[in-house]
Amino acid sequence: MTKRTQHIAIYGKGGIGKSTTTSNIAAALADAGYRVVQIGCDPKADSTVTLRGVNYLPTVLDRTREGGRVHLEDISVVGFRGVLCIEAGGPVPGVGCAGRGINAAISLLQDLHLFEEFKPDIVLYDVLGDVVCGGFAVPIREGLTDRVYVVSSSDFMAIYAANNLFKAIQKYAPSGGAKLGGIIANGLIAPYARPLIDDFAVQTETRVVQYIPRSSTVAQAELHGTTVIEAAPDSAHAAIYRELGEKIVADDSSVVPQPLGVNDLRDWARQWGDLILREGADAPVPIRAVA
Ligand code: ADP
Ligand code: MG
Repeated sequence: MTKRTQHIAIYGKGGIGKSTTTSNIAAALADAGYRVVQIGCDPKADSTVTLRGVNYLPTVLDRTREGGRVHLEDISVVGFRGVLCIEAGGPVPGVGCAGRGINAAISLLQDLHLFEEFKPDIVLYDVLGDVVCGGFAVPIREGLTDRVYVVSSSDFMAIYAANNLFKAIQKYAPSGGAKLGGIIANGLIAPYARPLIDDFAVQTETRVVQYIPRSSTVAQAELHGTTVIEAAPDSAHAAIYRELGEKIVADDSSVVPQPLGVNDLRDWARQWGDLILREGADAPVPIRAVA
């Protein structure tokens, strides 16, 4: 029996490392023999650049706007180790809703029978999550994706965005929406970063699935225009992304997160701020210092 396709959404605030992380997961899984599709759901439309190099890729929405019949070949490029790269794209700047664009793009991919014909093992949706407006929640709603992961650093704005995403997941879960696979803690530097994210996971009844330190290997790969898997396959970070990819395919457990209310989140953050101020930003912080 062939295994069912897993649809996985990766959310997080802008600039937090969604595309870097998603592309490295895609590259790691493709390198391990999985059939992978990556769909950029960010109006920036740069989700798949490190997988496809300089190959030009019109976005689904741009190609649709041109009119006429759209074929899968018009809106996809085969990238590193066969990863099928697609960018949903966005509205004409200043006009329309970017979230609705994601909806239109995904409907088109379904009409083109992408999933039946390409038969991927895994489809990764790289979704902007600053504001979880109705449109950006499309990959969560109505069971379109199986599980959601959120990329967050220990910065308050990233955690704030993750907490908002948890609210959206909680809202749609009773009507068949996707649940949370976990938090991907990215770009960690300070000693307090890991215990802080661990504590946020405890507070919201979620879990951290992987810790990804901030690394010049990632920056170097980006400068080469490739993923870490391609640029530095034997590096510690390549191993981290491979491990994360395997966890995502192998572990299908998920939860409905319990987001913090606005005031509780503020109070929680302030306690951490006090602790870091008192101990010093470079001091080793005891695990779950605040909880
Ligand atoms: P997003 O897709 O969330 O907007 P990107 O994946 O484009 O964010 O990442 C933003 C920047 O952060 C990029 O320059 C990327 O190379 C860098 N970056 C992401 N993760 C790491 C990391 N673990 N270490 C170092 N740089 C990182
Ligand atoms: Mg991105």
